[in-house]
Amino acid sequence: MKRMIRRSVVGALAGGAASAALIATAGHAGLSLLLGAAIGAAFALSTGPTPGAFLDNMMTAGALGVPLWGVVSVIIAPLLSGQMPEWSAAQMREHFPVLVGWVLFGVTLGVLVQLLNDVAARLFGPEPAPEHATPEPKKRILILGGGFAGMTTAECLEKELRKDPSVSITLVSETNALLFTPMLAEVAGSSLEPSHISTPLRTTLHRTEFLRGRVISVDLENKRVTLEAGAGGNESCRSELAYDHLVFALGAVSNYLGLTNVQKLAFDFKSLIDAIRIRNHVIEMFERADRESNPEARKPLLTFVIAGGGFAGVELAGSLNDFARGILADYPNLRREDVRVVLVHARDRILPELSESLGRYAQSRMEARGVEFRLNTRLTDARPGVVVLGDGEVNAETLVWTAGTAPNPLTKSLALEKDKRGAVIVDATLAVPGHAGVWALGDCAAVVDAKSGKPCPPTAQFALREAKVLAKNIRASLQGNPARGFHFDSLGALCVVGHQTACAELAVPFARSKSMRFSGLLAWLMWRGIYLGKLPGLERKIRVLVDWTVELFFPKDIVQTIDLR
Ligand SMILES: Cc1cc2nc3c(=O)[nH]c(=O)nc-3n(C[C@H](O)[C@H](O)[C@H](O)COP(=O)(O)OP(=O)(O)OC[C@H]3O[C@@H](n4cnc5c(N)ncnc54)[C@H](O)[C@@H]3O)c2cc1C
Repeated sequence: MKRMIRRSVVGALAGGAASAALIATAGHAGLSLLLGAAIGAAFALSTGPTPGAFLDNMMTAGALGVPLWGVVSVIIAPLLSGQMPEWSAAQMREHFPVLVGWVLFGVTLGVLVQLLNDVAARLFGPEPAPEHATPEPKKRILILGGGFAGMTTAECLEKELRKDPSVSITLVSETNALLFTPMLAEVAGSSLEPSHISTPLRTTLHRTEFLRGRVISVDLENKRVTLEAGAGGNESCRSELAYDHLVFALGAVSNYLGLTNVQKLAFDFKSLIDAIRIRNHVIEMFERADRESNPEARKPLLTFVIAGGGFAGVELAGSLNDFARGILADYPNLRREDVRVVLVHARDRILPELSESLGRYAQSRMEARGVEFRLNTRLTDARPGVVVLGDGEVNAETLVWTAGTAPNPLTKSLALEKDKRGAVIVDATLAVPGHAGVWALGDCAAVVDAKSGKPCPPTAQFALREAKVLAKNIRASLQGNPARGFHFDSLGALCVVGHQTACAELAVPFARSKSMRFSGLLAWLMWRGIYLGKLPGLERKIRVLVDWTVELFFPKDIVQTIDLR
């Protein structure tokens, strides 16, 4: 609490002083001062003091000025004065001095926050340490996986156990950041910078010890986990961790349904590196096609096949279609009709998770933008340059697989009960039956809703809620109290289909069996607003907002970040 008060005061003072730049360009002295102080307090609260971070602070807060200008001066201020926001060139010219004011405000704020933090450290000593730092943990909680389920479990455990210094929390994950998968298609489609949708686990978690490494085996009998920290199966990089409570949050992997050639030739679409590879590969195909004079040889280079008409496949198809058509201007030898984005789906309509009318709407909007659909069609095989379908072949150098997932195979070898997909069966409290202190959640677990008795879908929305209940149940178990069952009603689903168009089906509050449907630009704005709100960390939100703002004014970036030759 003392840390928060100290940071708020520092931030409000810095923001108040920096608001001079706003008063000079936007006027409204009292309002600018108040707004500046509030933004300053929020900024200082979210960043915290880091010695010598003048440049970092200055750049982060300076960048913050751009979205703040867009939201406050261009959108909210006209609305409050009864006018509609305008984006015309004349209006933008008029707004430009205020933009300079906002950026100056940000830069000054960054410098002042750092300066005042340093002064406060000299006068009052360093910030009080978090109240939970303690020696001698007695119980060890080990979380495997740093995705939505694992990271949220750790975050909630930190809160649940803040007054209990006798427990240690450790999280092990292959990657050192939480990947915000709902925005992955935008990375593949070159709208967002890859690292902007990944939140570092080390900075998000405070009390939890984070270890980057791959779990290679779990000894349930002796309560030990073996971890590999390096690459290439090097035994010297292995270490063992003991636990009292073990949480499986290892997520899912692509399931190629036994199609080995497809597995060899297709791109996965699950991780950040998958999205980066896809983006770079698309650019590579354009570069090769640009040099190719034979129109027949050019066709497969510019044909992009996506297998799977669920959320991931549809969002990727929409995003790649926008990307491919958007960069055509940089390749004068290529024509619009040369580009094909083909979505293959085994059922008669896409997005089975949404109501039929929204699924059909999504398809019609995507078709209007040039996406081809092969519905009721199975992908049966692949050869280099050829995708084999149940009813023919498509010549394509690019195939992305989103048509199936399976729970993480690591649990296969363990003597735990699993469902037919291979997910670890848990009881209503997320505990693994017959193994005291072992828990599972998220995409690697078969969770059944305690109230409805229905299986919970493998989505981030459910993984986050399961994590909250699990943290409470682990605390209850440590304290010898009864655990509670997991119940959650879905809030609905949103899907972007490309070019500022989305579909949304949201549950009606207090009447979750009913839903409200939205489509088009409004749904797209809702998608952006909701997911920006859910993206963890203020800094990441700002970075994504800046990417989106830049995207409005500039063409898609075609710089290759990986050499694929
Ligand atoms: C493209 C895409 C878009 C999506 N969009 C949405 C959406 O809009 N809304 C929604 O609700 N859901 C969405 N989902 C689903 C959502 O991402 C998953 O349901 C969610 O990530 C599940 O969380 P999890 O923690 O169980 O698994 P994950 O988030 O996959 O996390 C698993 C973690 O375990 C780590 N791991 C795996 N194996 C090992 C190992 N051997 N050793 C150490 N660490 C390991 C991984 O590195 C990862 O950090 C989307 C999924 C994809 C692929």
